[in-house]
Amino acid sequence: MVDSSDNWILRVSNLEAKFLVDEGAVHAVNGVSLEVPAGESIGIVGESGCGKTATAYSILQLLPSTGKITNGKIEYRAKDGTVLDLTAMKTEGRQIRSIRGGDISMIFQEPMTSLSPVHTVCNQICEAIRLHQPLTEKQARNRAIELLAMVAIPDAKRRVDEYPFQFSGGMRQRAMIAMALACNPRVLIADEPTTALDVTTQAQVLKLMNRIQDEFDLSLMLITHDLGVIAQMVSFVYVMYLGKIVESGTVYDIFDNPKHPYTRDLIKSVPKLRGLRGERVAAIKGSVPSAYRLPTGCSFHTRCRDYLGDVCRLNTPIPEKVGEHHSVSCFLHSPVKETGNA
Ligand code: SF4
Repeated sequence: MVDSSDNWILRVSNLEAKFLVDEGAVHAVNGVSLEVPAGESIGIVGESGCGKTATAYSILQLLPSTGKITNGKIEYRAKDGTVLDLTAMKTEGRQIRSIRGGDISMIFQEPMTSLSPVHTVCNQICEAIRLHQPLTEKQARNRAIELLAMVAIPDAKRRVDEYPFQFSGGMRQRAMIAMALACNPRVLIADEPTTALDVTTQAQVLKLMNRIQDEFDLSLMLITHDLGVIAQMVSFVYVMYLGKIVESGTVYDIFDNPKHPYTRDLIKSVPKLRGLRGERVAAIKGSVPSAYRLPTGCSFHTRCRDYLGDVCRLNTPIPEKVGEHHSVSCFLHSPVKETGNA
């Protein structure tokens, strides 16, 4: 992906989002900037609690009532080339509702909790269709059957009238994908789309997503903690830690030449099929600090194996280019700058 290219369809600039709860403010997203180029796929990777989902929810204005975007801009380039500022739209306004599920669609983490258990799959897909398209009930039903067949649900004509609990895990995820595609979106945000699936079903769902991305000419934002999925599915990767992008680059930059200690640790912590007998899987030191009180300086300094002392504890690294499309925020690769001071 080219930095700040004209090819973007979705652009997030310096996004900050917080959750205001009784205990205080949870700093979920802390200055995220990223781009989704038209027709391409990007991945956001990081441990749980790093702000990946909060970033996706912010894009679609789906943050819960305690959540608030406190800074930054989210821009979407519509079909006619107009650039729309999604952050300026009312959370429940007509404009964002027509974009949400229409132009930009989302596949949620856990289909069993995202699909309504008391409505048939047909009702749920038809509702999504009729919200955005002027189709009759019959036309919407036919479209729902067509979509289910497209995502390889066997006997779609009969199964469309079943409830989600009558579907297997893989079929539920396919039904979610069908629902997300119902209105021919241009951007698809997939949040951990295969986490709840066994490896065989996961491979099938990923293959399906690859196929539909080509068929629909979709721009894909894939969110996952699974580096294997990232390597297989996307061309550009953003590594996220504690609400910030700490490294970004092409999939080759990230896997062949990771620069940030967090990225390196993430890659090392993937179990190897051909590891030595008795070899322990490397784990990242400690755990993600509480987002109530962010660490000073570099947010990774409490866990970093390459910690440089006060320079890391007192100063905030800013993204520095280390390759044509490769950037990293770490003092191992950039000097302390005035603007980066905490
Ligand atoms: Fe580690 Fe310092 Fe780099 Fe942060 S800035 S990742 S603490 S070396």
